[in-house]
Order: sequence, then C-alpha cells, then structure tokens
Amino acid sequence: MDFEVSELCGVMQECLGHFMKHHVLPANAEWLRVADTGAYPLALVERLKRQAREEALWNLFLPGLREDEPGTRLSNLDYAPLAEIMGRVPWSAEVFNCSAPDTGNIELLHLFATPEQRERWLLPLLEGEIRSCFAMSEPDVASSDATNIRTSIRRDGDHYVVNGRKWFITGASHPNCRLAIVMGITDEQAAQGGQGADRHAHHSLVLVPMDAHGLEVVRNVPIMQHRFPEGHCELLFRDVRVPVSNLVGHEGEGFALAQARLGPGRVHHCMRTIGQCELALDLMCERALGRRTFGKALGEHANVQDWIAHSRVEIDQARLLVLRAAWLMDRQGNAAARVDVAAIKLVAAQLQTRVVDRAMQVFGAMGLTPDTPLAWLWTWGRAMRFLDGPDEVHLRTVARHELARAREHLGNTAVYYR
Ligand SMILES: Cc1cc2nc3c(=O)[nH]c(=O)nc-3n(C[C@H](O)[C@H](O)[C@H](O)COP(=O)(O)OP(=O)(O)OC[C@H]3O[C@@H](n4cnc5c(N)ncnc54)[C@H](O)[C@@H]3O)c2cc1C
Repeated sequence: MDFEVSELCGVMQECLGHFMKHHVLPANAEWLRVADTGAYPLALVERLKRQAREEALWNLFLPGLREDEPGTRLSNLDYAPLAEIMGRVPWSAEVFNCSAPDTGNIELLHLFATPEQRERWLLPLLEGEIRSCFAMSEPDVASSDATNIRTSIRRDGDHYVVNGRKWFITGASHPNCRLAIVMGITDEQAAQGGQGADRHAHHSLVLVPMDAHGLEVVRNVPIMQHRFPEGHCELLFRDVRVPVSNLVGHEGEGFALAQARLGPGRVHHCMRTIGQCELALDLMCERALGRRTFGKALGEHANVQDWIAHSRVEIDQARLLVLRAAWLMDRQGNAAARVDVAAIKLVAAQLQTRVVDRAMQVFGAMGLTPDTPLAWLWTWGRAMRFLDGPDEVHLRTVARHELARAREHLGNTAVYYR
C-alpha cells in the first residue's frame, strides 16, 4: 500500500490552504451571522465560488472528470488531504463545489445519466449553477434498510407519478436547490410478493425538479435544536408527475444505484471529519496550555494529557483507514472498497463525538456555546452516526464480511488446538 500523494496534490494543498486562510476564514464570522438568522449566506458563498473557480479550486472530488467538464481531476487518495482542509470550516466545501449531497449526486449522474439528463442537470451541477438533494429516508419506515422505502413511483403513460413523504433531506431548502433525486417503488406488486421476491429489485430513482407541481418542502427539521440553513427537510410528494425520461438507469435499479452513490460520498464525509477532529485537537491543546487550575496549566494534569494523546493516536488511526479506503477505490473501484468504506464511516462518526467531547470538557462551559465551533462539531458528529446509515448497519457489513471469510476457511484454526 502506498499513500504518497501526487505532486499536483501537494500544489493543490498549498493553494487550498492559502485560499482558506485569506478568503474563507475571514468570511467565517459573516457566514455564521447570516446563518444564525435562518437565511442562507448566498451572496457571500457565490462571491467565494467565483474566486475559487478562478484559482482552479473546483470539483476536486470527481476522479472521472472528462476533458469537457470543469474542475481538477484528482484521485480519491489525492482528494483526501484537501477534503481534510475543507472540513475545518464545514460550510466551505460548497465554495469549491465539493459539498454533500451534490458530490454523490454528481457521481451518480456522471455514471448513469442519459445525454438529456446530463445536459439538463449534470452540467449545471458541475458548473455550480444549481444544487440538489437526495430523497430516500421516510418517516414511516425504518430507512436504515432501504428496501423498506415506500414512496410510490407509478407509471402512467409517458409519465411517472410520485406519491410519498421523505425527511432529513439535506440541502432541500438551499436557495439554489433545483433537483431532488427521489427513491421509490416502481414495482408495487412484486414488492408485496413476499418470499422469493428480490427485495433489492423493486426500487427506482427519478429526477424531480424542486418546482414540480405537488412537491412541497414541509419544514426544515432541526438537528439537536440546530437549524441548518441549507436544510435537512421534510418533503411531501402529492401526485408529482415527471416524464418517464427522468428515470435514472432502469426500473428496479434504484437500490444498486443508491449504493453506488453512497460509497465515495461516505468517504468524503470521513475525510472532512478528520479535519474537524484535528481542529478540535488544536483548540484543546491551545486551551490546555493557556488556562490554569490548582497551580498548573490544564495541560499538566495527567487526565488532560491522556485526552490529548488518545485523540492524537485515534485521529491518526482513522486517517490511515480513510486513506486505505481511498487507495482501494482508486485501484480496484468503489465496489471493492465497500467493507473499508463501512469501517471508516463507523470509525469516523464515533471519533468525532469522542474527540470533540474531550475538547469541550477542556474548554469548560464555554465549550458548549457558539463562541467555539465545538458544539456544532459535536452535533454534526452525533448526526453522522445516522446519516449515510447508522453505526449498526456498518458494523453488520464488517461483521458479515469477517464471518464470510471465516466460513470459507472453516476448520483452518484446528491446528491451534491441542
Ligand atoms: C443530519 C442528517 C442528514 C441526513 N440526510 C439525509 C439525506 O440527505 N437523504 C436521506 O434520504 N436521508 C438522510 N438522512 C437520514 C438517514 O439516512 C437515516 O436517518 C438513517 O438511514 C437511519 O434511518 P432511520 O432514521 O429511519 O432509523 P431506523 O432505520 O428506524 O433505525 C433505528 C435504529 O435501529 C438500529 N438498527 C438499524 N439496523 C440495525 C441492524 N442491522 N442491527 C442493529 N441495529 C440496527 C440503529 O441503531 C438505528 O439507529 C439524514 C439524517 C441526518 C441525521
């Protein structure tokens, strides 16, 4: 395994670091001030997007970029340290057209869009002219098992008619959100077919314009009492009609397509998490050096040193796991990295709450206020333990893989017994 990044990546790290320092960080207070009012800081972000694009810091996440598409083509391994830098200011990914859920949606359309879909949706997404959301989870079914999804996508002549309710749909209240990629059932009869029916072959994905008649953004659901300005929204689809040409791939492929979409997107979240944990560790150390109790700097108390040391080695372990997943995706494709991606998604989400929790403790009560980014980072870490699948689903993937390997080699351990 070789985790050395390319020369281009080295240059990009320097350029991105410079851009963050001179353009993004100075805008952070203003972004937070506007977001606090519930509005999206669109003018600020659009200005930074133009600048970032001029400096070729654009669409860095898509290894398959074509010659005629805007952006810098980097491998997943090369993208990892860049996502880590962006992670330190969570809203900044949009400035470089690298934010979720667009990255996953772009990846999906890049692989499976028809020429017409590519023209209408993929190119404007790559240009950063529009944003999008991915609507899978539903309030009425356990959505960690996507085969439960019940929204109906019924064929009616040259159209599909969509009916259902979705929630936690990230990005749906962003002022530029124009597209929802919606997962639902196209084969209702087979879905009710009981035993023998393939539960993974009844769902499909359709492209629904956000201004389609019958589509309503019901509310922006607060996450742990925090309202994100881009939204994690509840959506209602009431007899929403879209042309059959809005189907992605073929009927019944929705489950497989959704899986293909989640692989790289999950790793991007984890890369940003590493950056956020590094930031929490930096803050923790600075506070530990500068604040004194009982005649010593906080950093001289043994328990604080333990927290710092544990955080350091846990972040380094997680980074290696992220890099291995990225390296595998580059060398053998997304499918081959499936178990590694599950492992890193599990590790990164838990790491974030653990490291940030220690940093909050070192900060005292201030750690719970908006005067540091820690409370936000903890909240996001907690949310990560659900988004893109809860911990338990990823544990299941890793465990089943191990058991399958053991089944293959059953009996091999006999030599270790007397
Ligand atoms: C901030 C945020 C953003 C999100 N963004 C999106 C989005 O953009 N689009 C979208 O479609 N969804 C989104 N989601 C929803 C997310 O994908 C779901 O919450 C997640 O898949 C879990 O589904 P659920 O909430 O229905 O939990 P359920 O499926 O009801 O599961 C409940 C609990 O059951 C347990 N469980 C489940 N399976 C197993 C198992 N095999 N073994 C043991 N225990 C198990 C887990 O502890 C789990 O937490 C987002 C969620 C959050 C918090």
